[in-house]
Amino acid sequence: MNFLNRFFNRGESQIECPRCLGKGHVDWADIKRLNQVLKWIPGSCAFCNGVGKIDPKMEKKVAVDATYLVDNLSEIERRLYINGNPEALERAAQYESNLESFVEQVNYLHFHGKLSSEQITEFFLLSQINSDSYDDEKAKLTDYINRIIARGESK
Ligand SMILES: [Zn+2]
Repeated sequence: MNFLNRFFNRGESQIECPRCLGKGHVDWADIKRLNQVLKWIPGSCAFCNGVGKIDPKMEKKVAVDATYLVDNLSEIERRLYINGNPEALERAAQYESNLESFVEQVNYLHFHGKLSSEQITEFFLLSQINSDSYDDEKAKLTDYINRIIARGESK
């Protein structure tokens, strides 16, 4: 929660955030409702910046399910994107396309290459094998890859 955002966003005209439904954070129920299961993980809501309420104009500027608008975006980039800066929109499109191609690669490696989620994770993290955060990265990526595979199986 950002104090300044909360302070300056306070007003009568605010409406409940349609992404987090006023909670200030996005959970799995929100993620499923907005069909972003392979694109988001639970965290602070980037649509309302954790406040739970938004200016109604926000909904006209940015889609509630905009994949790129997540809580690890810098404040500057968030503003650029919301205000339709062409370069930020381009970065958003690139981000989304990279994410989609990653999902396709995982599905290919698992369903055609017959690799397990662990093998796929190790493949993508080959260059980081000596990094201090390897085990942590590996756990997170394996979890994500398992979710991609589970979704692929349900299709
Ligand atoms: Zn929200």
